[in-house]
Amino acid sequence: MSQQIFVVTGANKGIGYGIVETLASTLNNAIIYLTARDESRGKSAVQKLEQSLGNKKKSEIRFHQLDIEDESSAKRFAEYLKKTHGEIDVLINNAGFAFKQDATESAEEQANVTIGINYYGTKKVSTQLVPLIKKGGRVVNVCSQAGVMIDMSKDKEMEKFKVMKDIYDEKHIQKLKNASSEKEIDEFVEEYKKAAKDDTRKEHGFPCSAYRVSKAAEIAYTLLLHRQHKDLTINACCPGYVNTDMSSGKGPLTIEQGADTPVYLATDSNAPNGEFVYQRKSIPW
Ligand code: NDP
Repeated sequence: MSQQIFVVTGANKGIGYGIVETLASTLNNAIIYLTARDESRGKSAVQKLEQSLGNKKKSEIRFHQLDIEDESSAKRFAEYLKKTHGEIDVLINNAGFAFKQDATESAEEQANVTIGINYYGTKKVSTQLVPLIKKGGRVVNVCSQAGVMIDMSKDKEMEKFKVMKDIYDEKHIQKLKNASSEKEIDEFVEEYKKAAKDDTRKEHGFPCSAYRVSKAAEIAYTLLLHRQHKDLTINACCPGYVNTDMSSGKGPLTIEQGADTPVYLATDSNAPNGEFVYQRKSIPW
């Protein structure tokens, strides 16, 4: 069997780093691309992993630059993969961004930056790399329970996220759940961006948080990809509340625990297809 090729985005730290670590210590003879937007951060992450894994490492870890917001970076990486391997097996879109709760940037800026990375960035990478995935291959998009659109405010687990109190207008939910094209998801995020700029998010049936909107769009995009690529296994997931820079170290889970569901979806023959998954279980969103 030819060597399996895995790509993990935003893997120089946090959950992405944990995903590469788990893949490299459990898969035999695969090649795992640890990608990062910053070359020196990415290369030192590879070095750190090589040292910490030592002889537990069963697969090769390679670095490649990839800024998910930069279309030319995604194109360069896709060309490199095509030339080097022809096809790839698994794409894990993990890279993401969130402003802190006390951020002072305007709502407009928070919307532009957060949606630019989490939704449009994931789309840019997928547009370039999904066509390279071989039949039977997989895509795992690391989204978040913050992207759940239905009212989960009474759910114990969701209380931790503290952002789930407001709910969406039903028309937004219907639009995203039934999206048959990227255009419809683009319209949803652009409408939110305009409402953030005009400070009319509530009146237009949106939650405050740009992160929530970006992750709802990312889940909808993942499930649209699933409907468009029946020969692949494509899922969205939440890694749980994990101790990383994004959570300011507040998440109770280790990066290894956070990597569990993404790695399960990337490798396990029992994994579902076309679902939003948390703790290895499909959940409604
Ligand atoms: P971290 O902030 O620890 O890591 C985020 C990673 O994404 C970093 O490697 C960062 O790179 C990278 N990144 C950000 N922007 C870009 C970009 N434009 N191009 C390439 N890489 C980029 O976050 P986590 O590990 O916690 O988060 C990983 C994923 O899990 C995210 O999608 C997040 O939304 C999701 N998630 C996390 C939760 C948690 O509790 N931590 C809960 C639910 C979901 P750099 O170092 O250069 O900034």
